[in-house]
Parts: sequence; C-alpha cells; structure tokens
Amino acid sequence: MKLSTLQLYLLLALFSLMFTSVWSYNSFLKIEQENDRIMTEAIPISNAASQLFPLLLDQELTVRSYLLDQNDQTFQQFKNTNAELKETIATLKMMDERHPILKQLLKEEAMPLIVQTDGFYEQQIRWIRDNQIEQAALKRYSGMEYINQFRPINAKINRDIDKIIREATKRSEQASSSAKWVIAVVVSVAVLLLFAFLQTFRLERSKQVLIHRSLHDALTGIPNRRAFDEHLETSFVFAKEARTDVALILIDVDEFKRYNDTYGHLKGDWCLQKVAGTLKKYADDFGQVSRYGGEEFAVILTEQADQVFHVAERIRSEILQLNIEHRAYQPLCRVSVSIGLAVVRPHDRMQEGDLIVLADQALYRAKSSGRNRISSHEAS
Ligand code: GH3
Ligand code: MG
Ligand code: MG
Repeated sequence: MKLSTLQLYLLLALFSLMFTSVWSYNSFLKIEQENDRIMTEAIPISNAASQLFPLLLDQELTVRSYLLDQNDQTFQQFKNTNAELKETIATLKMMDERHPILKQLLKEEAMPLIVQTDGFYEQQIRWIRDNQIEQAALKRYSGMEYINQFRPINAKINRDIDKIIREATKRSEQASSSAKWVIAVVVSVAVLLLFAFLQTFRLERSKQVLIHRSLHDALTGIPNRRAFDEHLETSFVFAKEARTDVALILIDVDEFKRYNDTYGHLKGDWCLQKVAGTLKKYADDFGQVSRYGGEEFAVILTEQADQVFHVAERIRSEILQLNIEHRAYQPLCRVSVSIGLAVVRPHDRMQEGDLIVLADQALYRAKSSGRNRISSHEAS
C-alpha cells in the first residue's frame, strides 16, 4: 500500500501526538508518585509531631511522681517515656532534609530546649537518687517553664507539617487534573487525525474510480478512445527513442447496423460486449486493446509489433467462432469483423495520425474486398 504525502504527514502527526501524550502522562505520573511519597512520609511525621508535646508533659509528670514516691517503677516509667521521646524526635528528623522550615525549627528552636529540659530532668533524677529530695523539690516547677516555652514551637512544627501535606495534596490534584486535560485533548486530536486519515483513503479510492471511469468504456469495460489516444502517444514517444515499430490493428464489426436493425439495440450491445471480451482474451497479452468508437475496436502493439498478423488473424477467427447469429448478413449469417492493420517506425514525419490513416485505409480495403478479412499496410 502506497501512502500519499498528506497521509504520511497525518501519520507523522498522529505518532508525534501519541509520543507527546505518553511523555506528558509519564511526567504527571511522576509528580503524583513524588507527592504520594511525600504524603506517605508525612503521615508518621505528623503523628510524631502531635505526640511530641504530650511526651514532654509525660516526662515532666513521671519525674515529679518519682520525686514524690522515689519508686523504681516510676523511674522506669520515666525512662520509657524518655526513650519514646527520642524515637519521636528521630522520626521528625527523617524528613527535615527536604523541608528547610521543619529542619530549622527542630535545629534552632526545639532541640536546644529539649536538651535543656533533658539536662534539668537528669539533675532532678540525680538529686532524688542521692537523697537530696529537698533540693529537687525546690526546683520541681521549673520543668513546667520549659514546657510552656515549648508550646509555641510545637504549634509552629505542627503548622509546617500541615502545610507540607496541604501543598503535596494540591500539587497532586493539579497534576492529575492537567493529565486529564492532556489526555482529553490528545484523544480528541487523535480521533480527528484518524478521521482525516481515513477520509484521505476514501478520497483516494473515489479518485481512482473516477480515473478508471474516465479511461474505460462503460458498455464493454475495456479502455476507451481517450485511453487509446494517450497510449498511442506514449507508444510513439517510446518507439521513437528506441527506434522500434508501432503496429495498429483496427477492427470493425461487419454489417452491424443491420444487426441492430434485425435484433434490436440491446442485443447489439450484448454483441459488442462479446467482441470486446474476445479481444481482451486473445490480444491483451500482445498490446493495448480499446474501443475506438461505435462498433470499432483497436489494438496497439509496441514490443510485439512483429506479431501483428498473427494477433489480427487470431482475433478475426475467434470472433467468427463465437458463432453469433446474424441472419441479415448473407451468406455468412454470423457476426464477423474486418481488420485493417498498419505497422510504422515513428519519426518526425510519421506521427500517430498517419498510423491511424494507414490502418483506416487498410480497413476500408478489407471492407470493399468482401469483409471478414484482414488488409494491411506496411510502411517502409
Ligand atoms: P460495415 O460492415 O461497412 O462496417 O457496416 P456497418 O453497418 O457495421 O457500419 P455502419 O457504420 O453503417 O454502422 C455502424 C453501426 O453501429 C451504427 C450504429 O448504430 C451501431 N452502433 C454504434 N455504437 C453502438 C452501440 O454502442 N450499441 C449498439 N447496439 N450499436 C452501436
Ligand atoms: Mg464502422
Ligand atoms: Mg461496421
């Protein structure tokens, strides 16, 4: 299948469109995946951030309880809370590299305070263990001061994490909505291009049908006079260059007017179709067969011009052997043809028209000398 330039352009456009759509879809997918990852990471961090303050409070309460009961179990509770607090801080630090505000908050505000608080509780624990209970009791409210200082920092951390989550959600929504638009536009344009592509096939097919019709005879289906003229012209160009012969066989149905008068026009049409079919069957391999006009047909031979007598005789005898009844045509009483042929070597003074005249003259001689015969003219 050969594609026209327009079809090639359309195909190219279709492929570029497909490539662009796959590329944009992948980019949007990547944005979504990245945002999904941020969200998945943000959830444990958000949980950790909301635990931070209660854990600091728990620490304060367990230290204070230990001051009151000096029980080992209470001390163990403090240690557990402390370990949990360390874990929570580690979780928060997991994402801080990618989020400068969170990193800054942790480094510059939260951690110094937590370190100070840790130092304070260690001091308290040391005093309690050394039985300096009074000393520790004097300072028992200082922990609350640290915790109060931590309140605004905690609020800032929570706000920043909320912001991270909100922004990731927004980007993700934007990416998927853009992807939807790109897909919608790409699909519509692709459908239009495909439609245009199919349309070019339909146009090409109707063009071919029109060309075929303009060069073929409606009744017999063989090439018409226009095709004959074109073919004779190109045959002459070719033969002039190659210095070879062109032969023309003109075939005329004998007493055809009387045939029509006897059997009617429709039967006459049928008879012409039979003659054309025979010509196609026996002369098509040798040259171009065409309907020259009315009940006249022609065969142009180039490469096989030397076969012209053989072809003409075959045509005459095969048509006779069709045995189409023609009772008004005495004494043969069946359809026959007269043939005029001419062979020329084209040059400047031997043109297409000259060959037709020569073949026509030969045909006239075949008619006047009794019909159902071949007469020829060979130019030297
Ligand atoms: P001749 O042997 O001298 O050729 O006699 P003729 O009757 O064949 O020649 P003439 O030129 O007098 O008549 C040709 C006839 O062919 C006249 C015309 O009606 C008929 N004819 C031409 N085209 C068609 C066609 O398409 N269908 C039918 N049925 N007849 C056609
Ligand atoms: Mg005629
Ligand atoms: Mg005739």
